[in-house]
Amino acid sequence: MVVKGQGSVLTLEDGRELIDGISSWWVNLHGHSNPHIAKAIATQAETLEHVIFAGYTHEPAERLAISLCELLPERLNRVFFSDNGSTAVEVALKMAWQYWRNQENPGRNRILAFDNAYHGDTFGAMAAGSRSEFSAAFEPLLFEVTRLPYPETWIGDAEVDEKESESLAVLRYQLEASPEGFAALIIEPLVQGAGGMKMARAAFVKSVCELAREFGVLVIFDEVMTGFGRTGELFAFQKVGIEPDFICLSKGLTGGFLPMSLTITGSQIQDAFRGIDPTHTFWHGHSYTANPLGCAAALASLELTIQALPLIKEIESSHVQRLTSHDYRAERIRICGTIVAMDVPVSSGRGYFSGIGARLKSEFLEDGILLRPLGNTVYVMAPYCTTQAQYDRVFESIRQRLAAL
Ligand code: PMP
Repeated sequence: MVVKGQGSVLTLEDGRELIDGISSWWVNLHGHSNPHIAKAIATQAETLEHVIFAGYTHEPAERLAISLCELLPERLNRVFFSDNGSTAVEVALKMAWQYWRNQENPGRNRILAFDNAYHGDTFGAMAAGSRSEFSAAFEPLLFEVTRLPYPETWIGDAEVDEKESESLAVLRYQLEASPEGFAALIIEPLVQGAGGMKMARAAFVKSVCELAREFGVLVIFDEVMTGFGRTGELFAFQKVGIEPDFICLSKGLTGGFLPMSLTITGSQIQDAFRGIDPTHTFWHGHSYTANPLGCAAALASLELTIQALPLIKEIESSHVQRLTSHDYRAERIRICGTIVAMDVPVSSGRGYFSGIGARLKSEFLEDGILLRPLGNTVYVMAPYCTTQAQYDRVFESIRQRLAAL
């Protein structure tokens, strides 16, 4: 039972304190109970707590949309609100699919997605995600997608060029076999989160997008996890150097205070939905769409994130320094922005259900650290306010616990 959160520290009901090494499911950017965000929500709550967002609008939603679009390339100038990462993805998939249908091109109806991807737990997001024990019960209800190998890489990986070439060759083969068949490609750019913090190089992600675009395929960046500074830039697409057709944002959007998400696209997509034919309308809305408290939190969090960008670069350098100066008895060590991951060598039982993850989780807890390994992958993704002394404790715990295995 957690009774309090302050900065990177959570207090349990028995008085124990834990360093939150994973930003509480990757949502918290600026520390728990951050006063700037808390105040913005409180002020908004006394003005307008919620209003139907169909036919009506409000100042926090407009200000958020404008503030974000000012930071984005010109072609990303339309913002659709929903309330969690899965729905942000669901909306992007639906929009991409309907975009082609509205233009009398219903043959473009297939989705390209990556092995090992995770895009959420609603049906469309599950279908785009890789099939696993989590989706097995729903298998007959999930639409088919065309899978591409994901060339995960790590420090010192000698085979990365080969893996990337193979993945691009599979993509080319699929596109040439069906040049007018694909509506969209969806990717978690640079880092696959729930699939095990697997990292790919920016140049590879860029090549994938360029190739897909040669064949007119829309590109969806699922930045639900990578958004808001996690990969070192405000958004991963900036690091990749490509402007996608859709970006999906959630998690860090409100700094971890309130559930909200955005699917950002452009007027070039929106134009296909205009007109008087009701079947061309994008019929999608949620009760809490553009909740004003969420928008106020997001605006406050965005201010803090922009201020934190130089600090984020320092965190990345300190991660590199830490991981290259100690032996962690781990393999596949990888770093991207504020995210660090490594695999515990195991002879069998890799993956999410590897018993080693549960054991390490409770050992980290004994050390006063909240970490939640994904199977045999141990990762750190702490709030940006985490101090170097707190990081020292987190990494020392990892080093000692892995050495003792
Ligand atoms: N996409 C990615 C890349 C994610 O990491 C997640 C959540 N782990 C989702 C989508 C789904 O987000 P939510 O849990 O808010 O529905």
